[in-house]
Amino acid sequence: MDFASLNLCQPLLDALDEIGYVTPTPIQAQAIPDLIVGRDMVGCAQTGTGKTAAFALPILDAMAEDPQAGLRHIHALILCPTRELASQINDNIKQYARHLDIRSMVMFGGVSQRPQVNKLRRGVDILVATPGRLLDLISQGYVDLSHVQFLVLDEADRMLDMGFIRDIRKILAQIPEDRQSLLFSATMPRSIVELSRDMLYDPVSVSITPESATVEAIEQSLMFVMKGDKRGLLTYIIEEESPEKVLVFSRTKHGCNRIVKQLGQDGIDALAIHGNKSQGAREKALGRFRNGTLQVLVATDVASRGIDVSDISHVINLDLPNEPDVYVHRIGRTGRAGQGGIAIAFCDENEGEYLRGIEKTIRQDIPVDEDQPFHSEKARSCKGNKAPKKQQNRGRGRRQPRNGKSNGNRSNGKSNQQSNGARNGRRSGRGQSRKQRKHQTRY
Ligand code: AMP
Repeated sequence: MDFASLNLCQPLLDALDEIGYVTPTPIQAQAIPDLIVGRDMVGCAQTGTGKTAAFALPILDAMAEDPQAGLRHIHALILCPTRELASQINDNIKQYARHLDIRSMVMFGGVSQRPQVNKLRRGVDILVATPGRLLDLISQGYVDLSHVQFLVLDEADRMLDMGFIRDIRKILAQIPEDRQSLLFSATMPRSIVELSRDMLYDPVSVSITPESATVEAIEQSLMFVMKGDKRGLLTYIIEEESPEKVLVFSRTKHGCNRIVKQLGQDGIDALAIHGNKSQGAREKALGRFRNGTLQVLVATDVASRGIDVSDISHVINLDLPNEPDVYVHRIGRTGRAGQGGIAIAFCDENEGEYLRGIEKTIRQDIPVDEDQPFHSEKARSCKGNKAPKKQQNRGRGRRQPRNGKSNGNRSNGKSNQQSNGARNGRRSGRGQSRKQRKHQTRY
């Protein structure tokens, strides 16, 4: 399958060609045909599967078909949990829309609101925002969501984990009911199911399991080590293997800082990103990691959301996560778009229970690498033990089980794609009332 068979307009196809996307990823192949005819969608998929393009391309395609005249109103709103993810989504959209006359902007807190307000005043078609700042600017009267036709909630489970549910519901109340809504989430706890029931109409469900998305391409190994030796083992691996680009995960912000300090003492250049770092510091660290001048980036799970660095050679789990899905998500950072990568997990004497959960989820035993100076049989013997109480999962509820248009009359012009008047009616619901659309899209 190629993108042309998904019947996207020519300016989008040209952009994808230039960016180097040849084959749609599974989620793109599954989602785009339904989205392009106006269906609502609930998607169980993680970052790294190509989901940004899966939702952005149909929205851009619809907007290209129905351009705004005069001052632009916000026609698409994309909500996501972190500024990194928001920036990344916006960057992707700009790339895909490079041959379209569509303006997008990103909005998040922790920085001055003035540039964001100025951009809003000039008019935007697509707004990518984190909920807190958006609500703030709505309450100050700077944002008008009454023209929104497309709504995307990305990484909905993270947004709920981060306590955004009330903000999200307040934002939803500002958006017309006659819209196309999409909700993506890596996990589907009850709270997400309830939210999706409230905000989606007769949604199509797509599910890309992380196993099929990433794990197969990744070379995983497991090292048993006592807790006190973990940082020594990290230095050893970096010195022995000289990996090009290493992403190290730690459970806590404090842990990230300690690792960076220790690596620095060992002469290894590393930086941390986590919630206590300023936006400038995060961007600097990410920028250096991306351009290859920083070998080691140390991150917490939340901060790592939205890190879009395509050539990470190694992911090292210095601490095992207490949720198996998080492990899969972490190691997926090194297996982007089908490329292989190396994922090393450290397991100490307190993490045996987490390891068992992970191996159950990925349905394999991770091969043990004993060939390292800190190998600990004691840590290995604790594999079956329960984790100490303070490390147990406290916050989240248990996960539930995972669960045509014709191609005529498309514009080939790179800039005047909007002038094509003769539409073939494939997205026949667009511009009609929600009720009419509901009726038509039942099949
Ligand atoms: P996402 O899940 O949207 O964060 O995408 C993960 C990575 O895959 C990003 O670096 C995208 O640029 C890349 N990507 C998305 N779709 C494709 C595709 N069809 N072919 C190649 N790379 C892709």
